[in-house]
Amino acid sequence: MKLYSTNNKAHLVDFKEAVFNSMPQDKGLYMPVEIPHLSDDFINNLHQYTLPEIAFTVAKNILSDAIPEADLKTLIEDAVNFDAPAVKLEEDVYVLELFHGPSLAFKDFGARFMSRVMSYFLQPGEKQLDVLVATSGDTGGAVALGFLGVPNTRVTILYPKGKVSNIQELQLTTNGQNIRALEIDGTFDDCQALVKQAFTDAELNNAFRLTSANSINIARLIPQTFYYFNAYAQLQREGKNNIVFAVPSGNFGNIGAGLLAWKMGLPIQQFIAATNANDTVPAFLKTGVYEAKTSVQTIANAMDVGNPSNWLRIADMFKDEPSQLNQLMAGYSYTDEQTREAMQQVYDEYQYVVCPHTAIAWRALKAWQQEHPGIAGVFLSTAHPCKFPDVIEKNIAQHISVPAPVKELESRVKQAVELPNSFDAFKRFLLYQ
Ligand SMILES: *Cc1c(COP(=O)(O)O)cnc(C)c1O
Repeated sequence: MKLYSTNNKAHLVDFKEAVFNSMPQDKGLYMPVEIPHLSDDFINNLHQYTLPEIAFTVAKNILSDAIPEADLKTLIEDAVNFDAPAVKLEEDVYVLELFHGPSLAFKDFGARFMSRVMSYFLQPGEKQLDVLVATSGDTGGAVALGFLGVPNTRVTILYPKGKVSNIQELQLTTNGQNIRALEIDGTFDDCQALVKQAFTDAELNNAFRLTSANSINIARLIPQTFYYFNAYAQLQREGKNNIVFAVPSGNFGNIGAGLLAWKMGLPIQQFIAATNANDTVPAFLKTGVYEAKTSVQTIANAMDVGNPSNWLRIADMFKDEPSQLNQLMAGYSYTDEQTREAMQQVYDEYQYVVCPHTAIAWRALKAWQQEHPGIAGVFLSTAHPCKFPDVIEKNIAQHISVPAPVKELESRVKQAVELPNSFDAFKRFLLYQ
C-alpha cells in the first residue's frame, strides 16, 4: 500500500511510515493512492458476514500487502472485539451504537486498531514508542485503553484540568501500567500546543521515539469504515437497501470514513453532516465557501471544532468532482437549546437516552427525512450517554443504565500529575519522570 500527501501527490510513503509519522512534513494528510472498489458480490451479500469478517475483507483490500493476511486477521480479531448494533427505534430510524468498546465511544475503533498496528510494526529490540496525546475527553480514554498493556509502548495523556467529565477523567487516570496522565492547568488548546511543541523539540526527539495518536492518523480512519459496511449489512437483513447515515461531526474523521466506504463501493444515498454551533461545513454546503472559524464551546463538546482537520481528506477525495460531494452530503447545525430539546424528544418518543452528540445526529436525520420520506436512516451514536451526565437533564439522566465496567471504574483512585501550562514543566516531566 502506498499513500500520498494531500499537499503533494508525488510524496509517497508506505503504510508503516504513514502510521508512525501521522502527518507529512508538508502539513497535508496521508491518503491511499489506490482506493479499491469492493466486489458487488461482497456488497450484495454483506448480510452473511460478521463485523470482524467484514472488517478483515475491507482492511485486506485497502491495506493490500502492508500486513500479511494471517497477521491482519489476528490483528482485526483483537482490535474489533466488540459489537456495533443498529437498533431500530421506529420505522426507518435506526441508531448505530458505536459505544460498546472499552472507552464507551466510537473512537475505540480507531484507537484500538491503530495501537495494534503500531505494536505490530515495532520490531523486537526497537526503542520504546512514546505516544503523546492531548485530549478534550474521549480521545484520551480510547487511546489509553487501546495501548494499555501493549508491549514496548508508553502513553502520556494531557488533559485540561476540570474540563473533562468524571467518567472521562477516571478512564484517563486509573490505568497504571504503560499509561500516564497529566492534568494541565489550561484548556484543551493549551494541551495540544504542548504536544505540538514537544514534537519540534530536538532534545526530546533525541531522547525518545515520539509519535502522536491524533485523529488525523490514517490508521484511525481506516477501521472506521468497518462499521459503515456492518451497519449496511444489518439493514440488508431487514430488507432495507436504500439508506442514509447521519453523523455527529467535529473533526470530520467519522463521516470521512463513511465517504471512504462509499468510495469503496458501499451504496449509500446520502451522508448527513450534523454539527453543533460550529457549523463550518454546513455553511460551506450552503454557500460553497469554506471558511474556518474559531471554535465555540457547546454542550456537545467533542464536536467543538471550527476548522475540521479531516476536511482536507474529504476535499481531496472529491477534488475531481466537487459537485458530487454537494449531492452526497447534506449539512445541519444546531444550537445547545435545540440539542437539549432533541435529547428530550428522543427520550419521550423511544424511552432511549442519547448523549448530546448523538442527539444532534438524530435531529438532523429527522429533518432530512421530512424532506425525503420513506428512506431508511441510520444515525450514529458516538458515545454512551453516561459519559456526559452533567449536560443531560436530571429527569432523563436517571434513566441511563450505567455499564458494569463504569461502576467498577468509579471505585478506582485517580492518579494524575498536575502541571502548569508550561512547556518547560512538561519537558522536565518527560525527561526526568
Ligand atoms: C470525537 C467525537 C465526535 C466527533 O467525531 P469526528 O470524527 O471528529 O467528526 C462526535 N461525538 C463524540 C462523542 C466524539 O467523541
